Amino acid sequence: QKLTTFSIQEVMKCIFDLMQSQIYSRNIVLYVEALEDIQVTTHRNDLQQVLINIMSNAIHAFDDRVDNRHRKIQVSATLKEEMVLQVRIQDNAGGIPQDYLDEIFKPYFTTKQKGKGTGLGLSISKKIVEERLQGKIHASNHGDGAQFVIEIPLLIEGD
Ligand code: ADP
Ligand code: MG
Repeated sequence: QKLTTFSIQEVMKCIFDLMQSQIYSRNIVLYVEALEDIQVTTHRNDLQQVLINIMSNAIHAFDDRVDNRHRKIQVSATLKEEMVLQVRIQDNAGGIPQDYLDEIFKPYFTTKQKGKGTGLGLSISKKIVEERLQGKIHASNHGDGAQFVIEIPLLIEGD
């Protein structure tokens, strides 16, 4: 699969269009912050796959929650350093219990009911980010929810 140059804004728009009905049907409001038009040269499909996995987890994190809080997912894409793109995806669905914050990137770790989760999304995402996109991924609890941060070089060498 070839490297291409594309705008991160365009990729995010694609993903939000794809997931719009899932977001809308759960009364989640999506906030996209300070989205500069950043050009990246990398594996576009891999980046999209990772963002979809994380967005999908954020969306499903609201399932089974009975509170009436205003549901939100905030996404930002900014330059962390001159040549490093940082994408943050933050929800307010309650976060990841501290006890298994270290487990979530392991294959087959899931807290979802049988048939609803494979536990592979984050382990695959981590592998993709590190091995294909030459970056890193980090999860933490922030505010009322979970925050995933991906940092990848704006430009990687072809393989
Ligand atoms: P799956 O979605 O199939 O369970 P993942 O690897 O995508 O597998 O995620 C593993 C686990 O990480 C989830 O089952 C859930 O417990 C936790 N998790 C991931 N994203 C979030 C989030 N945004 N909020 C709370 N927990 C999360
Ligand atoms: Mg998942």
